[in-house]
Amino acid sequence: MNSKAKKEIREATTEELSVLLNDLNEKPFRLQQIHEWLWMKWARSFDAMTNLSKNLREELALRYEFRAITVDHTQQSSDGTIKVRFKTFDGHFIEGVLIPTTDRLTACISSQIGCSLTCRFCATGKMKRVRNLFHYEIFDQVAILQEIAEKNFSKRLSNIVYMGMGEPLLNYNNVLRSIDKITSPKGMAMSPSRITVSTSGITKQIRELADEKVKFNLAISLHAADNAKRSKMMPINDTNTLEELIDSLDYFYKKTGTAITYEYILFQDVNDSETDAANLVKLCRRIPSKVNLIEYNTVEDVPYQKAGHESLDKFITYLQKNRVNVRVRRSRGKDIDAACGQLANKNN
Ligand code: SF4
Repeated sequence: MNSKAKKEIREATTEELSVLLNDLNEKPFRLQQIHEWLWMKWARSFDAMTNLSKNLREELALRYEFRAITVDHTQQSSDGTIKVRFKTFDGHFIEGVLIPTTDRLTACISSQIGCSLTCRFCATGKMKRVRNLFHYEIFDQVAILQEIAEKNFSKRLSNIVYMGMGEPLLNYNNVLRSIDKITSPKGMAMSPSRITVSTSGITKQIRELADEKVKFNLAISLHAADNAKRSKMMPINDTNTLEELIDSLDYFYKKTGTAITYEYILFQDVNDSETDAANLVKLCRRIPSKVNLIEYNTVEDVPYQKAGHESLDKFITYLQKNRVNVRVRRSRGKDIDAACGQLANKNN
């Protein structure tokens, strides 16, 4: 059988595998064992499935293959953050980051190879979009980061954020399928409340998420609360304006009851004035929400600078005075280009 014609085993349906097991005169409980290997023990090769007979593993390998991602390179920051460059079966690179803090161990994962959007402050936005990641490739990133977490920190992941390379809502089906496997009791069994999908604001898909009544968190890369400024930084705002975005978020909140997180990177003299803060306050009043102010990291060839301490303090004070729930997210892994907006497959 030509290897190109083989299907990824994690794309095989239960019915298909049942028929195969029956044809091979295997006992029905083998189906459960295969499922456990794939989604509960995170096998990424047939050889790993040690409670299946050698013969059955060979039969499976004749018909199916694994297109698992592998670790190409890892780097650890002086603050403990670990950046992993993964290689896909077809030779592309994506990145994931493991971020340890006192109370959390967060995996930041990618949803696409490159990105079709061109947010001006983002290193990934300077790469072309190559393709969407398959659901099992997203799952593999979490599994591998979980294994690294256990090895390095003797802890399990506490949170997963879809905030790496790519726009998750432009790879809607694979992102949802991966979350289904991560949260299923017959998968990684992680609580959806520990998962955050971060989007630049694709309103059509935000409404779809609402209709599906998803249980995970939604974060919006906002960065400006007026259309002219936001469009300059994020061209997606031309076709998904703030009004449309807020309408879709209102719909999301009404359907799911989950408050929205706004991510706001404060750039010097760009979006850090009192007027900017006032616009943000107004926007926050529309739907239950909180704001994460994110510290920026310089990206080559990007005209934006991180805001200074003084403007950061003023901005926070203004938001707090107006009863906005705000937190500052200090950047992690700056020295290894693992911080927000820095993921770009640099060869270091
Ligand atoms: S910020 Fe996100 S959506 Fe925007 S270009 Fe970067 S990866 Fe794409």
